[in-house]
Amino acid sequence: MSSPHQSHVTPEAPPIAAAARVEVDLEAIRHNIRLLIDRAAPATVLGVVKADAYGHGARQVANVLVEEGVEQLAVATLSEAADLRASGVTAPLLVFAAPLPESLSAYARLQLGVTVSSSQVADAVIEAAQAFGPLVCHVKVDTGMHRLGFAPEAVADALRRLNAAPGVHVASLWTHLATADGDLAYAHEQLDRFDALVADLGPLAPPVVHSANGPMLLRMPERAAREGTIVRAGGVMYGLASGDPLIPSMRELGLRPALRFTSRVVHVQRVQKGESVSYGRSWIAPEAVDIATVAAGYADGVPRSLSSAGFVGIGGVLHPIVGRVCMDMMMVAIQRPAGSGEVASPASGVTVGDEVVIVGRGGLTAEDLAAHAGTISYELTCGISPRVARSWR
Ligand SMILES: *Cc1c(COP(=O)(O)O)cnc(C)c1O
Repeated sequence: MSSPHQSHVTPEAPPIAAAARVEVDLEAIRHNIRLLIDRAAPATVLGVVKADAYGHGARQVANVLVEEGVEQLAVATLSEAADLRASGVTAPLLVFAAPLPESLSAYARLQLGVTVSSSQVADAVIEAAQAFGPLVCHVKVDTGMHRLGFAPEAVADALRRLNAAPGVHVASLWTHLATADGDLAYAHEQLDRFDALVADLGPLAPPVVHSANGPMLLRMPERAAREGTIVRAGGVMYGLASGDPLIPSMRELGLRPALRFTSRVVHVQRVQKGESVSYGRSWIAPEAVDIATVAAGYADGVPRSLSSAGFVGIGGVLHPIVGRVCMDMMMVAIQRPAGSGEVASPASGVTVGDEVVIVGRGGLTAEDLAAHAGTISYELTCGISPRVARSWR
């Protein structure tokens, strides 16, 4: 494939010099998954590598997870699953999306787990298993997220029909929580509904039932780390928190972020008091200030909502983003943040070619930068675009 998502670990710099880069520390992911497997036992861990492993490289991450003994993986879409199969990943692979009926032949051919979340999907699966060969089903129940899934009272009937259909194998029953990274009272309500359903189903319940995402494992271990269940771990494997309440338990467990997103200073200039910077003239220099232009913009995955918000690291010092983030560049003021009033001179040492840390060591964490952008770390890392050069070590 010609995309920068290379199929192997690349210890050396790519041959074409690129300003905007992502470096993924696969050893951090290895470290994290070991801790998570340990924490989840006796439940097993399913590695969620959707959205190119939250921007970390699905193929590279999948290989590490399989090496560490992770037996199942999941992605969001059929094309993500097809990419992983094409790169040689043979592990059981669940696709979270509700399948389009015409895509079920591909599920059979690629041996993918189907999310069966409605009676229409169940009908299509029963038919497709006859036409295209065996299908492995994961029956999804909606316990309160109201995104995908059967109503709890419809599950028994669906299971009976699927169990009776030739070529259909029901591997699990599962649900998804709305607030595992927030209000745990609601999460407990959802889990109580799920447990009651499983108890009602009795022998009709599939051999495996699962409800935990990464945040539930960390914040509700007593309900997540149970025999006969799976933890669908995503962000935590990458050392990312989807919400602030998660951060203390991630620190306590010792999870490490794995991604650094950097670019370079490509221009430095002095802007006089009263002059404006970038499109729309939304930022006016309050005093003469040196401005560095950085080669990364919203087409690289720097959210435009960081216009005059947030900081990047240059030489270990945080500098504020000023003016609108452009498609391909952004500008930063070379002065100390938080209104110290101190304006660095060109002698501040920031020069063309300097590394600019957008996310990671030497700059802000993905969580902190995301907060400035009004989003979460997941959106930031999975929004880093394919034109950014990626490397893995
Ligand atoms: C993305 C996703 C997960 C993983 O969630 P994290 O918060 O990243 O751990 C688990 N289950 C489903 C259904 C998902 O869509």
